[in-house]
Amino acid sequence: MIKAKPQQALSFYDSVQAYFDKAAVHTGLDQGLLDQIKVCNAVYRMKFPVKINGGVQVIEAYRVQHSHHRSPTKGGIRYSKHVNQEEVMALATLMTFKCAIVDVPFGGAKGGVAITPWDYNEEQLEKITRRYTAELIKRNFIGPSIDVPAPDYGTGEREMAWIYDTYRTFNGEEIDAAGCVTGKPVTQQGIRGRKEATGRGVYYGIREAVNSAEDMKKVGLEPGLEGKTMVIQGLGNVGSFAGKISQDEGGAKIIGIGEVEGAIYKPDGIDIHDLIRFRKETGSILNYPGATNFSKADRGKVIEFECDILVPAALENEITVNNVDKVKAKIIAEAANGPITSEAANILVNKGVLILPDLYLNAGGVTVSYFEWLKNLSHMRFGRMEKRFNQNIMAEMVNVIEEKTGKKITDIQKQTLVRGADEIDLVRSGLEETMISAYHQIRDIMVRNPSIKDLRTAAFVNAINKISSDYLNLGIFP
Ligand code: GLU
Repeated sequence: MIKAKPQQALSFYDSVQAYFDKAAVHTGLDQGLLDQIKVCNAVYRMKFPVKINGGVQVIEAYRVQHSHHRSPTKGGIRYSKHVNQEEVMALATLMTFKCAIVDVPFGGAKGGVAITPWDYNEEQLEKITRRYTAELIKRNFIGPSIDVPAPDYGTGEREMAWIYDTYRTFNGEEIDAAGCVTGKPVTQQGIRGRKEATGRGVYYGIREAVNSAEDMKKVGLEPGLEGKTMVIQGLGNVGSFAGKISQDEGGAKIIGIGEVEGAIYKPDGIDIHDLIRFRKETGSILNYPGATNFSKADRGKVIEFECDILVPAALENEITVNNVDKVKAKIIAEAANGPITSEAANILVNKGVLILPDLYLNAGGVTVSYFEWLKNLSHMRFGRMEKRFNQNIMAEMVNVIEEKTGKKITDIQKQTLVRGADEIDLVRSGLEETMISAYHQIRDIMVRNPSIKDLRTAAFVNAINKISSDYLNLGIFP
């Protein structure tokens, strides 16, 4: 018997273009304006030499600025062997729409270095990062008012600190130099809550969606996150925080996890903290007590696990025409960028699956990056001015209540009442507000327009409309 050949899945870039086109028809905007909003404005492809183990290696890297309708442009830097021009263009495009959805006043950008980071030691990675930054500086592709990188797959606080230090070395006089990159360590002009931000935003987005009784009825679930089963693909920064917070604050029951070494399934629940500890100790999620193992070759099966909410939190193109029929989840929460190709997404939407789209759901990272950038430009920690003032007012209020009622307020109650907000409280509150209001903006567009059948199309419509008004205000378009 001849086995059916797997179909060629749509590329990530083509998917993003298809998502845009699908939404553009609902905006009624001039084609020229839509063309301008869709294209990548600037693509910088570079190759540079780095001395590694006595020999020279030529490193390939990119920075793409998708849209200059607002400044600076903003987006992470990815270190992965899969990095190529099209991938970075797709990711930069998503950043533009992501920023518009959460009202972060930036254009979209993305960077990529085509290396496998764990093939290099710390010293070598530092060399590569500093050289990449120098290339960006040379071409004016980085700066607090130009283009502001951040972490992405394969990078983190450490790399951001190297970028900041390199930038500062070249721009010693610049008072706002710290705003040249976000996701820095808190001790080096970073902000509290940035590391968890994308995962926390994913949690707020899921929570908002599952709280709608009407939407849950459509997928055959009760409202509320408590007790809902969740499967997570990828335990990197985003997946692990999304899982921890959904379990601890939302009461979600995590029953499956996928990682590079394999996947595990345990329908009676996995404590995510315990699993992370187990993986640290053993080097793998496999053989976690009580769970069924899926080997490295079968790790893709994680997207087929029976569950309420599937959270792809790894890389793009995980769900394609070749495996979409096997997906059993009722809700897919796109914590990663581009985990579903546009063809597969159409199939899922027609089947009634609720998809929380990447450009909304993982926008928590760039939202808190915006707060960090503001902190850097203001040269002051959030909460510094008002914390004590608010605390004193609250203490006075408690005294007055006790005096007037003649009743004592307990110490535990006092602890929660008499408190001024710290930076972390304000960051979380700003993020929560952003994710909730963005969700309702998108959902309202979908509800008001019956020809829009999914949240992704509604999210793109929302973003395109916001960006178009910037262009129209500039007077470039009639
Ligand atoms: N890399 C993250 C993203 O894809 C964060 C970008 C940023 O903070 O600028 O959204």
